[in-house]
Amino acid sequence: MSRRAGGQWALGYREPLNGNERMKRDDDGLNVRERIISKYSKEGFDSIWPDDLRGRFRWWGLYTQRRAGAEGDVEDLEDSHFMLRVRIPGGRLEAGQLRAVGRVAQRYGRDFADVTDRQNVQFHWIRIEDVPAIWEELEAVGLNSAQACGDVPRNVIGCALAGVAADELIDATSYIEEIERRFLLDPQFSNLPRKFKTSVSGCAHHCGQHEINDISFVAVEHGGRVGFDLWVGGGLGPAPRLAQRLGAFVPPERVAEVWGGVCGVFRDYGYRRSRNYARLKFLIGDWGPERFREVLEREYLTAPLEDGPAPAPSPAAQNDHVGVVPQADGRVYVGAAPRAGRTSGSELVRVADLADRFGSGRVRLTTQQKLVVLDVEPDRADALVAALEQMDLQARPSLLRRGTMACTGSEFCKLAVVETKNRADALVRELERRLPDLEEPIRINMNGCPNSCARFQLADIGLLGSRVPGADGERVEGFQVHLGGHLGPDPSFARRVKGVRVASAELEDYLEGLLRRFLETRAEDEPFHAWAARAEDQWLQPQVGALSA
Ligand code: SF4
Repeated sequence: MSRRAGGQWALGYREPLNGNERMKRDDDGLNVRERIISKYSKEGFDSIWPDDLRGRFRWWGLYTQRRAGAEGDVEDLEDSHFMLRVRIPGGRLEAGQLRAVGRVAQRYGRDFADVTDRQNVQFHWIRIEDVPAIWEELEAVGLNSAQACGDVPRNVIGCALAGVAADELIDATSYIEEIERRFLLDPQFSNLPRKFKTSVSGCAHHCGQHEINDISFVAVEHGGRVGFDLWVGGGLGPAPRLAQRLGAFVPPERVAEVWGGVCGVFRDYGYRRSRNYARLKFLIGDWGPERFREVLEREYLTAPLEDGPAPAPSPAAQNDHVGVVPQADGRVYVGAAPRAGRTSGSELVRVADLADRFGSGRVRLTTQQKLVVLDVEPDRADALVAALEQMDLQARPSLLRRGTMACTGSEFCKLAVVETKNRADALVRELERRLPDLEEPIRINMNGCPNSCARFQLADIGLLGSRVPGADGERVEGFQVHLGGHLGPDPSFARRVKGVRVASAELEDYLEGLLRRFLETRAEDEPFHAWAARAEDQWLQPQVGALSA
């Protein structure tokens, strides 16, 4: 056993070993819903018990947001308003659901609505007094915030084009729905060592990013039928790990059983002594895939799994579903890029109206913070593109806009050391102006801290918020630079450019110089990540303006 192991329930460690484990033992996080409805929403913010406020509220998608302009320790940054995350399995929304989400943002959240890279929507500025009414409005259309945060199974992500993609192997929607139906709010999985992320993908393009989820089902053909290849133990954050294949073929009718088995192994054998090692990836790292599969099959499944093949690598350079693209049924979908995931409730209501007018009312959110309107007749696509662009939701964006994501950042997140959403938007606009002819897809992911909610390790250019020396020696907002991350064939995490930390005010200059050097020195058709892997250190240094440290 490694030195970090410990606290595993299966080995008899039932006595809580840290504050989080004690909080979960004292009362199930799911129980806080009743207190929110009957007590806190009536008596106000100051009536909330600390263990509920900073612990169990997450089980219902609630975090306190950062007080505007506040600095200092995390608990000193706490505002009396909340972020509320809506769980949207597979990113699937009907127009009526999207309209309800938009109206909640308008009524209760100062019109903020962020599309996340796990196909959720996040509100900000939510008051505890309004939470029951928000739940009523969401639940009336079949949505909720249950287990959207916390040490529980999180939103199940999937291909935004499930059921319509021209080249999918299987429509995975029903398997996502079965996992949600059987296990959401199930007390047997409401106290896990930490969060547990799931991806189920039936298409060939792998936008479900199976490499970085705790458990993933990836469609494959085997023995004349389509089922799923099983991956476990991926995750980002400060210690990123790529998921590993168990080499097992999961027939469609066993997806939910296998999901329950893997989640059970994690619950019982996952490390609970230290939260830093409580993700499934650390258990897989210590056990290896063979032992994990053996325990899974012996103790948690009704029968062993057959060996199966690996999925083929994705053929697509970009799998963000932006643009006007044919569906299997002859209609097209229209995918549009918001500004680094930031939209508004008003925009979402409008998108719902457009989806009704131009399509069949079906909308999808992608794992790249994008919006997709399905089922559009080809001769009406241009009109929809124009209507979306009136809201700056661009279906034919620059490759820079298309490739940019940002996490929540210091505008609302207490862990952030830099502002991200507005800065990413401004950065893209400035680089579009300086590099108008850039025709290479470049993915820029801006993150406020190492938790990597916007996946800085997987970007061509991953920007990680940091305090850096400013021009006068004072500490100012800036970024570490990580280059060359990518999934797909031979995936790798972005490598940190040693010695380079760029003050926010110098970021445009640094990135313009970097991109120009890439364009000048790349081999023909060489993608950015390949160039970054072989680039000489001097090519990656700031030329003028940016600060080295
Ligand atoms: Fe907050 Fe860090 Fe996640 Fe950004 S990456 S949203 S700063 S926790």
